[in-house]
Amino acid sequence: MTIHLPDGYAILTTATVRDAVAKVPNLTARLGGPASTWEIREIGDGNMNLVFDLVGPAGGLIVKQSLPYIRSVGESWPFPIGRIGFEHAALIEQARVAPGRVPAVWHYDGAMALIGMERLSPHIILRKGLVRGIRYPRLADQLGAFLARSLFLTSDLALSTPEKKALMARFAGNAELCATTEDVIFTGPYDAAAPLNRWTRPHLDSAVAALRSDADAIAAAAELKLVFRTATEALIHGDLHTGSIMVDADDTRVIDPEWAFHGPMGFDLGAVIGNLLLAYFSQPGHATATDDRVGYREWILDLIVRLWTRFEADFIGLWRGRRSELLPPSVPPDSEVAERMYARRVSALLADATGFAGAKMIRRLIGISHVEDFEAIADPATRARCEAAALACARDLRVRRAGFRDIGAVVDAARAIGADQSR
Ligand code: ADP
Ligand code: MG
Repeated sequence: MTIHLPDGYAILTTATVRDAVAKVPNLTARLGGPASTWEIREIGDGNMNLVFDLVGPAGGLIVKQSLPYIRSVGESWPFPIGRIGFEHAALIEQARVAPGRVPAVWHYDGAMALIGMERLSPHIILRKGLVRGIRYPRLADQLGAFLARSLFLTSDLALSTPEKKALMARFAGNAELCATTEDVIFTGPYDAAAPLNRWTRPHLDSAVAALRSDADAIAAAAELKLVFRTATEALIHGDLHTGSIMVDADDTRVIDPEWAFHGPMGFDLGAVIGNLLLAYFSQPGHATATDDRVGYREWILDLIVRLWTRFEADFIGLWRGRRSELLPPSVPPDSEVAERMYARRVSALLADATGFAGAKMIRRLIGISHVEDFEAIADPATRARCEAAALACARDLRVRRAGFRDIGAVVDAARAIGADQSR
């Protein structure tokens, strides 16, 4: 892949970002002056981009710049810097449909491939909160509502056909990122020749070999890959793991939508559920003498149930609140026919979400990119026990995805495997 670099693009450093920001009145006003007093740090901990944290006398801001390659791999893996344009467009769209749930955008510069945005504070990355064992009382409601609004309101269920196609067209160019997702999630983990795959060795060797020769598991991954490639249901975030969610005691925000495109709703729902389940299975590895994490594990499962319940209620509520173009005008939105349509669609979403959750879990256990939930467990044998349980659960979710009656049954399946794990 050759990466096109716009005229004027230069990779920023903590030194040059000061000058770049000083030229933008809209940003200098947020920080207060003079520029020499700004405290600047590069805080990117993701796989992909540069993220600068700036604090001045009047306040703070974040500058995110995309690089022409994947940060965690290096220049050997070129990657389109135009992805920042899709992140920008997605942040604007998400702010419109789900106000207050994404960082406010204050500046965008396509040539420099950067966004200036609201600095979330004292928020931390949800994944880190889950590793520490922190409970977030408002998370289920706020994230469930975000999912309902961002998915429903960008879909054919809310938009006219021309509106939906126009919105979809704005994100169709994010194709290189879609192709990468397809590779690293659905096929890469099962490819013995993919050089960057890794897992806890030798403990998981036999589990990995078993998975790679498991016809049901591979067929399920192929089916999900096809759904990912063909469904255009809603403008999805595309990478909604617990590292793309920032939280404090009262507030939940969704960041980092650079993978956004019109895809299957179940992919975002499954990303959230799968990553919460990874957190669940990792908990025994974070237990201490004073905190066994047993209650916390249950809190995570309950969070998944409450989150889905809120999502479902809001999603159906939005649908019921308007006349659906899917039904003839004579059929009212609170009729039995309409209610049956809502219920069937939500069941189908649960099946997709369950399958995608399994796929997302597997790729974090045996693929290229791993998660802190497990990486923070120092003892390899303990880590491997947690990972093996997560892997077993993920396979089960993916293969049986259409067989779960409701979210409670999904969580029960995880709990059954988790109970074994702590014995
Ligand atoms: P990447 O695309 O490289 O994954 P992210 O958008 O996930 O980058 O940002 C990397 C890190 O920077 C996040 O994990 C978070 O710690 C921090 N960060 C990003 N955006 C913000 C923000 N708006 N406010 C505060 N911190 C942020
Ligand atoms: Mg990220």
